[in-house]
Amino acid sequence: MKAGHATRVMLALSPVLLLPMDCQGSDIIARFDALANGALPATIVIPSFDGDTESGHVSTLTVTSRLRSSVVFPDESPATLYDALLDGDTAVVTRSRGGLDVSIVTKDGVHVTSLSVNVAAVGHTHVPAGSTGDAKRQRRSATVGFEGDVEFLEEPSLPMPLADPLAPIEVRLFLHDELRSSQAREIHAGYVAWWLRDMESRVIPPDMSIHVVYLQSIPGISDQPYGLPSSVTTWLKAVDRYVESRGIRRTWKNKYVLLTRDRPAEGKLGQAVPRSGIAIASLSGPYSIIAHEVGHLFGAEHAQAEWRGWRWWPCRTNMYFNDTPLLANCYEYSAANVASIQRYVDLKGYLPPYLGGPTVTP
Ligand SMILES: [Zn+2]
Repeated sequence: MKAGHATRVMLALSPVLLLPMDCQGSDIIARFDALANGALPATIVIPSFDGDTESGHVSTLTVTSRLRSSVVFPDESPATLYDALLDGDTAVVTRSRGGLDVSIVTKDGVHVTSLSVNVAAVGHTHVPAGSTGDAKRQRRSATVGFEGDVEFLEEPSLPMPLADPLAPIEVRLFLHDELRSSQAREIHAGYVAWWLRDMESRVIPPDMSIHVVYLQSIPGISDQPYGLPSSVTTWLKAVDRYVESRGIRRTWKNKYVLLTRDRPAEGKLGQAVPRSGIAIASLSGPYSIIAHEVGHLFGAEHAQAEWRGWRWWPCRTNMYFNDTPLLANCYEYSAANVASIQRYVDLKGYLPPYLGGPTVTP
């Protein structure tokens, strides 16, 4: 029997792997890898998200399954996602080249516990990545929200070519040049990881997966000006150039989202053109901003959103139109919007005429 196999069996039989509290991020990550590559579910103890390892605060992370969906960061390194429970709460783990991020959703936002290679400390964040720097000046108010974020551009409504039935859904997230490359991991853990898990577990068919690609520093694409009424048209043209230069077939399975620090246009947190598969999402918006704008690209609508008494706090679902700062997100689509997204996928990109489908008359 190989030594690696013996270790795997031993870990699988161990209900909880206890760690010395002085161990570094690298040690914990190595143990996580050994567990995650073995039989699941498996449980590991990690330092608690308060980072107070001296006093022995620990959290129990149970990795239940590996997600089908995949992620590639701007340096082209892939990441693997896992469905998990952190102290009993639904969690998603992203194992990237840089380390391990455990994301959980709460009424206060998304909490991320980060363990990095060669770093002793455990990082923890629950502040939106975009709420730093200049974005602080853009205080949210009841007048800022998602109203009017669906755009109907006067472009030729050509039907998209048929997609490869075996191809995954590909969501390309372009980080605007004003965002640092080091933020990609943080953006993913806060804004995207929980959405991917939810899409995979509740929304898309079990034989389908989502491939998320983060892209950065692409001259003529990721440096586009924004903040003007023409932002969304500028972005659409940039995507046209990107797709053409790389020979990408533009089917319903391909979505192109520009992530910006500030608002794409006056009073708007995001913009989406459903029939073109393009959107802009500002990280000054809530953690649900990417789920919201990408939701539009799959036919989800504000009118189908709902308020909920979810868990122990009231919340609004992803497509709710008003960004009321005091009301939590549910981090889910409403049942009606799940049905809309499923219809879009079932019918291979069909959008009804009132959402800008190809039968609409200009
Ligand atoms: Zn919207």
